[in-house]
Amino acid sequence: MKRQADRAGPAHQEFAIPAPAARARLAARLLAWYDRHRRDLPWRAPPGAKPDPYRVWLSEIMLQQTTVATVGPYFERFVARWPTVEALAAAETDEVLHAWQGLGYYARARNMLACAKAVAAGGRGFPEDEAGLRALPGIGPYTAAAIAAIAFDRPATAVDGNVERVMARLFAIDRPLPAAKPLLRAAAESLTPPRRPGDYAQAAMDLGATVCTPRRPDCGACPWRDACRARRAGIAESLPARAPRKKKPKRFGTVFWAVDGTGAVLLRRRPEKGLLGGMMEFPSTDWREAPWTDAAAVALAPVAADWSPLPATVHHVFTHFELELGLLAARFDGAPPAGMLPCPPDRFSDYALPTVMKKVAALARDWPGGG
Ligand code: SF4
Repeated sequence: MKRQADRAGPAHQEFAIPAPAARARLAARLLAWYDRHRRDLPWRAPPGAKPDPYRVWLSEIMLQQTTVATVGPYFERFVARWPTVEALAAAETDEVLHAWQGLGYYARARNMLACAKAVAAGGRGFPEDEAGLRALPGIGPYTAAAIAAIAFDRPATAVDGNVERVMARLFAIDRPLPAAKPLLRAAAESLTPPRRPGDYAQAAMDLGATVCTPRRPDCGACPWRDACRARRAGIAESLPARAPRKKKPKRFGTVFWAVDGTGAVLLRRRPEKGLLGGMMEFPSTDWREAPWTDAAAVALAPVAADWSPLPATVHHVFTHFELELGLLAARFDGAPPAGMLPCPPDRFSDYALPTVMKKVAALARDWPGGG
């Protein structure tokens, strides 16, 4: 039995990579369980059928940071509208962003389109190996491994939160995340079998999602119950351990609700690169670490007008910071400034407005001065 050293120190559990026969047994049990209990997901090929790499890739992009339940209807709509990677590559950015609305993280949608264009332009379909997949936009190490395994049955190990949890429990690895990631990856890689690696990858994901759940794992239904160290020690629910979360930094901004003589409100497009890239928004100040006074914000207003503060604040949580937006509203005369577009409130849905801007609209659209 080979020892996998935990170089970070002796205070936490090491794990022993099981001997080849034990690894083969674990893999065989999990695959047998998968053959009986696999989830029926819209992007999965039926048992024995060859998966469509386009559907596998699309589902993996959609599933980054989003749940299976949320992705299902989006996936069905996308493949009905764009049934091949070539069809998606030919779509307009706005159409795709619009169809993506509600899945969040719009950079993913833009990268997805860039990836579709690159694959369609190459004319040879998706690369089959992790290195080739990682060279494409929007495909990181996890997604590359998942596509290589699921679409092409390559012995790649896709380690997501579900798989980390299962590995932490199976081997009772108590080092907290994120420091434990290399150990959990090594554990997962040690178990990936040479036969049916694609099914194995999906089986490990399914086990984490349906049996080895974060709370109250159903150990009685688990194909690994006999081997599982955390179950034997009665500590399954406490794993994986996590380092305490850091509080997110806070940023502040002021949004300008600028209404023209027809009742239309000014919108502008955000820069293509960066947060919410390419999406429409109501003009605002920068989002900075110190709160804005109304006077300081008015100096940056898109039009000269009599600005009044609205008695409301929008709160929104992004991945890396929390945002608090104050609101200033005014009517203005004349043409919109360069780069801005007046839009009647009942046409906001024509644009890919990010959630934070929908919150702004919900609070500001009844402003009595706007009618
Ligand atoms: Fe998870 Fe329980 Fe299975 Fe261990 S026995 S892997 S804790 S479900």
